[in-house]
Amino acid sequence: MLCTTCGRENPEGNKFCVYCGQPIMSAVFPKKRDLEAPIADIARAVGQRKNSDKTIPIYLGAIPIAITLAITVVFVAILASMLSDITDMASPEEYDPAQLYADYRDYFLVMIPLEIGFYLFFGIITYFLVKRNNDHFARDAALASAMSGFVDQVNLKAGLGRTRAPAYGSPWDNQWGTSMTSVGSTPRNPMLWAMVVMLQGVLGTASIVAVVEYPNTLEVSILASLVSLVLSVMTVYMWYFLMTDNKVHDQSWAQNAESFKISLARLGYTAGSIMSPPRQPDRSFALYFVLSIVTGVFVFYWWYILVKDPNEHFRFHAIYEDEMLRVVSNHPSWLSASASPR
Ligand SMILES: [Zn+2]
Ligand SMILES: [Zn+2]
Repeated sequence: MLCTTCGRENPEGNKFCVYCGQPIMSAVFPKKRDLEAPIADIARAVGQRKNSDKTIPIYLGAIPIAITLAITVVFVAILASMLSDITDMASPEEYDPAQLYADYRDYFLVMIPLEIGFYLFFGIITYFLVKRNNDHFARDAALASAMSGFVDQVNLKAGLGRTRAPAYGSPWDNQWGTSMTSVGSTPRNPMLWAMVVMLQGVLGTASIVAVVEYPNTLEVSILASLVSLVLSVMTVYMWYFLMTDNKVHDQSWAQNAESFKISLARLGYTAGSIMSPPRQPDRSFALYFVLSIVTGVFVFYWWYILVKDPNEHFRFHAIYEDEMLRVVSNHPSWLSASASPR
């Protein structure tokens, strides 16, 4: 029996080479029936995809943009009209801020439901952004575990014990596991973060309204704006973890998926048809944060990215998984075995 690494003669039945110490690869690939259970595990995790990988339509972004435009139009119209009222005044004595506000109060109040609608929308989107990450990370951990179980079973049935893929010179063993599972292991609470985003906006709006409408309850307004400020900081943290979780997960998935593909090729599968997962751009949280603060409108692009990146990640998952499952279920040795007479 020849060593599959150094090529020297070894006693029959040796699992490790007496010269170089490397595992000796079995010439016989396991039968299909021996791998049916782990292949079914992979198929199950792939099948869960329709329940977990939810695409959020990009066009929903038109809603907050439309609301923002409406608020801007109302606000600019009020200011322009007020300005013309002031310039029309005969003398400075006529200028009375309280009266001026009273004249335009109804128009100011129109902005309140618009503001609240804006934050309501982001609260709902936040809920789905957080929830779909939880669901996807959990499914992906199950899928990675099934893929790992498959490689274990191949090694076991090929008589190599639980040495896993390194027997075939595969990178799968060393890279799978750490970052992939750690991202999904602590699910974020979607309802909590949706409430943070909504309340931050609602309290911020309420505190401004209270200052103008109920000047003698100033303490309440200040308290509301302070709470709103704390919630804003929490919202920034939420953007941070959404961005980071996505990035860490995407990178570890791309690495694992590529490693598994190489493993399959080394196991004699025709793995060339499986896509090599593209990696997402390495986006900087600090840059996005600064640009959002400075420009204000950049925040819309940030939300767009938070919706778009996972959408694409899910799309690549689907392409990769379907082909990977097809390849795993069709080892070339099984085809020739069924074609030849017993
Ligand atoms: Zn050897
Ligand atoms: Zn994934």
